[in-house]
Amino acid sequence: MSRIHLLSEEVASQVAAGEVVERPASVVKELVENSIDAEAKRVEVLIRRGGISLIRVVDDGTGMDRSDALLCLERHATSKIRTGHDLAAIMTLGFRGEALPSIASVSRFQLSTRERSALAGTEVIVHGGKIETVRDGGDAPGTQIEVRSLFYNLPARRKFLRTETTEAHHVEHQLHLQAIGHPDVGFVFVQDDRTVYQLPPTNHLLDRIRDLCGPALAGELLEAHEFESAGLRIRGFLGRAGVSRSTRQQQLVFLNGRAIENTTVSHGLREGYHTALMKGQHPVTFLFIDMDPAAVDVNVHPAKREVRFRDGASIRDALIETVRRTLESDRDAWSRTFHSAPSAAPAFARSAATSLPMQETPALIPEDEQTALRHDWTKLPLYPAEKRGAESVPDVSARRSEIVEPEAEAFISAPAEDLPAAIKPASRGIFGSPSAPASIAPAPAERADDAGTSSYAIGAPTPPAETPAAKPAAPAVEEKDNKTDFKILGVLGKLYVLMENASGLVLVDQHAAHERILFEEMLQRMETQGVPTQRLLLPITLQVPPKDADWLTRHLPELQRAGLGVEPFGPGTFKIDALPTFLRGDAAQVLRDIIDDLRETSATQTSKLRLGEEMIAKTVCRHAVKANDYLREPELVRLIQDLLACELPYCCPHGRPTMIQISYNELEKKFGRKA
Ligand code: ADP
Ligand code: MG
Repeated sequence: MSRIHLLSEEVASQVAAGEVVERPASVVKELVENSIDAEAKRVEVLIRRGGISLIRVVDDGTGMDRSDALLCLERHATSKIRTGHDLAAIMTLGFRGEALPSIASVSRFQLSTRERSALAGTEVIVHGGKIETVRDGGDAPGTQIEVRSLFYNLPARRKFLRTETTEAHHVEHQLHLQAIGHPDVGFVFVQDDRTVYQLPPTNHLLDRIRDLCGPALAGELLEAHEFESAGLRIRGFLGRAGVSRSTRQQQLVFLNGRAIENTTVSHGLREGYHTALMKGQHPVTFLFIDMDPAAVDVNVHPAKREVRFRDGASIRDALIETVRRTLESDRDAWSRTFHSAPSAAPAFARSAATSLPMQETPALIPEDEQTALRHDWTKLPLYPAEKRGAESVPDVSARRSEIVEPEAEAFISAPAEDLPAAIKPASRGIFGSPSAPASIAPAPAERADDAGTSSYAIGAPTPPAETPAAKPAAPAVEEKDNKTDFKILGVLGKLYVLMENASGLVLVDQHAAHERILFEEMLQRMETQGVPTQRLLLPITLQVPPKDADWLTRHLPELQRAGLGVEPFGPGTFKIDALPTFLRGDAAQVLRDIIDDLRETSATQTSKLRLGEEMIAKTVCRHAVKANDYLREPELVRLIQDLLACELPYCCPHGRPTMIQISYNELEKKFGRKA
């Protein structure tokens, strides 16, 4: 007896609808995409009760004639592709010809449409997939679709819907994506008879972002450094370093105008931000990738949320480069605000500042003294104060803070390998001069009680003479104003350094700042000289679960390069006989932490650099200046200088901000001087 039968058209549609129509937000997505494909300039979306009771989308697009209005309700009816060939060249949002019949099969559906030039339009009423009425109608040119009682004929489906509020949020998010993706289209959103927003069409993405997300978010964005190569173009806006969210809701990426979710893209973005992003946080992006549609498969997911790239690696690399360059240019812009502090301040602010007792502010340090200062950073027992050798801290308290900072700019624009060692940030840091790697050793005994810093070896100071020699060799930097000009006003709560710069007040978290400095120094050091390791007196063995063993085995070479002496020692067992010098503590625990931390972050790609970064970031925190450490002025000055010389000065290696700028503008608003 035969058991197989063909499903009725109605049931087949309902089955298909399961894929496309998950909830009210999916209906909104499909309808709005259709409107945009129909060249609408204005789309109005109305929902009632989270879209469960009513969704109405009205557009001023091309409209349809009567036969199309009927045909569009058939499955696999589309005006957007004709042959399989066309699948490789899709520039429209839709192409599957499934949305309308699917939606109409699970709701009370009404379509009114009129072509622009037609005298009369068409109205079609469908209930649960059955056409009930076809008549003249559709007064305005364009298309209006009403979807009532979603899933009224599929109670099981309806039960899966969440509360009206939740469904409304999903709709809102969906519309948000469409509105950002298509700034040239005006959007009106009405929810339960309340107009939530009316967005005018615009040619400027940032205007749309501001209209939709508010000026605060818009102010945290940087225009992405435009990438263009081999038919791939990336543009848009990116959150500044340190700007992040705990969800991906604001990580918007559009591929040929379609909002997509794609792990290659997420990884590329994360990698680009790397230490500018807090752990577990996601970047804020409004990025538009435009590429040859043949190089990407958008037909992977029924709702077309996911895509598959033919050459994922190049997309990822392009994204990394875009993010890095964007952050880098922001860093330049930021450091410029430290170049002419007092002059840019409003007059009243300046006079107030000068009338306050400012003798404590550090002053112009002659270049020779300054070099000593800079290169001795590590020689100075940083904290506590009473331990400092007076000879290494020039008395600068009576002068103005105008510190010549010739290296910073050179460093940014030059590839590190080409720079003389003496002007690389790392070379003046904690490890001492590169010619003295032996200085990486357990801390001198006299400092053993200094828990916060003692595990760091303090390098031999770089001879000051190296700096002048190195300078002319630096690649030509235009004769810019290379001075960092800032004024340290004081320290708040033994943690926050208060400073004045061109834009106003800057608060620096001294602990986070020091973390960033140490981090970059150690990283640089690691890249140029490899990782100093220390053999364990007694090698230990570690037993790990199979999935960890697998991860370890695959990443052994990277781990070994990063200074971890680890090798297989029987099934599921590993032997550790050396650790990087900067890692302290129980070797087994260290390795376990590394596995836990890195397995997720590097699920797809573990670069040697990234591994090293993660390890360093983990350790610097413990060794950086503590919140309550009292820093004397010359040390503060140096801390700030070193921070400003960092590649990514405004956040610590964990992505927390190191500095907060409070502009004169904000202050004036707060004090009611400005509306
Ligand atoms: P697809 O968008 O994949 O082609 P749909 O089921 O969403 O499939 O729509 C079917 C067809 O109906 C579209 O190809 C288009 O020609 C037409 N259509 C749908 N919505 C509109 C609209 N708002 N304005 C004009 N034409 C529309
Ligand atoms: Mg469609």
